[in-house]
Amino acid sequence: MHETRPDGTLLRSTCDFCGKEWDPHGTDLMIEGHQGSLICTRCLSIAYLDVSVHRGGFEHQGSKCTMCIEERDQPQWQSPVNEANRVCLRCIKQGATALEKDEESGWKRPSA
Ligand SMILES: [Zn+2]
Ligand SMILES: [Zn+2]
Repeated sequence: MHETRPDGTLLRSTCDFCGKEWDPHGTDLMIEGHQGSLICTRCLSIAYLDVSVHRGGFEHQGSKCTMCIEERDQPQWQSPVNEANRVCLRCIKQGATALEKDEESGWKRPSA
């Protein structure tokens, strides 16, 4: 999520799934969802491995996804630090595709 000052300027951006603060001067990227939700590349890798590769996340199926704000009948990855935050398979795949297209990210989808 983005934290803003009272005047609307950006204070900091943190990953909704691990709480890591984004470093605007670093090389890490974050994928932005609806309503300012953010997932860092590290969390996306873990989520991808868990849900897309190992076919996990079925226990959270049907709950609201933090990234697309929709209740999807799809497996979801739950944040280890905030149980209310989940990312659905569709958003995981979209994020993975976006990161792969961005050559600067150097991100590769994890495989089993
Ligand atoms: Zn994260
Ligand atoms: Zn979603």
